[in-house]
Amino acid sequence: MITSDFHLHSSFSSDSKTALEQQIIYAINSGILKELCITDHMDFDFPVNKDGYTFLFDMKEYLAEINRLRSIYSPAIRITTGIELGLLPHLYETLTSFLKEYGSELDFIIGSSHLVKGLDPYEPEFFEKYREKEGIRLYLETIVNNIDAFMDFDVYGHLDYVVRYAPNKGKKYCPADYMDIYDIILKKLIQNGKGIELNTAGLKAGLPFAHPHPDVLKRYFELGGEIITVGSDAHQPVHLAYCFDQAEHMLKAAGFTYYTVFHNRKPEFIRLT
Ligand SMILES: [Zn+2]
Ligand SMILES: [Zn+2]
Repeated sequence: MITSDFHLHSSFSSDSKTALEQQIIYAINSGILKELCITDHMDFDFPVNKDGYTFLFDMKEYLAEINRLRSIYSPAIRITTGIELGLLPHLYETLTSFLKEYGSELDFIIGSSHLVKGLDPYEPEFFEKYREKEGIRLYLETIVNNIDAFMDFDVYGHLDYVVRYAPNKGKKYCPADYMDIYDIILKKLIQNGKGIELNTAGLKAGLPFAHPHPDVLKRYFELGGEIITVGSDAHQPVHLAYCFDQAEHMLKAAGFTYYTVFHNRKPEFIRLT
């Protein structure tokens, strides 16, 4: 059983209304999880969208709240401090100075692509502007550019997130069409000691697979990828540990015999039984 959820949000993220304490209480009561790694959204230079989301929060408040809740709820559950950083090629200096100030307080950092040429693929305009294959390829190219610009993260988030918003929920998505670019991404990550995550929000969004697609997960394993965290990307309690039983099957099918957690930015490997 996978008992550590390493990607979840609370009301520190613009797109969640769930108090962090609610996530923690629900996780304890569900009895499935032994550990939650909180990874709220910090997206510098994100264009304010029509819902008024900024994807920024007060880091001091965030760390204080996590510490407060840890003192109340551990050892019923282990609460780990993470963040999901939205990456953009020009953010090197911003992110470096941010981590210089707060990095020592973080156990885990997800680096994610949420913007392609200034547009979030979540916005309907994205696939109105780009045809399906073009949009997917552009998103993956953005990942390459982001990795080339900034590497101070532990795993890359939801590699094929863009497919969630593709026409027909990505029914025509075939990872083999993009394996040239996936190979570039995966090799760069592996060579630099970085990992990826298995993010079950794809299933929640109605896709027949989690992020990344099983073919990409398998390729990562074949190339020697070892670091693989598992996260629900829950924005509300009911989605914590979402489909983690399926996630375990996916990992085993790709060849993994363990999954990964992080503390103090160091990977630890937990055997899948
Ligand atoms: Zn994300
Ligand atoms: Zn997320």
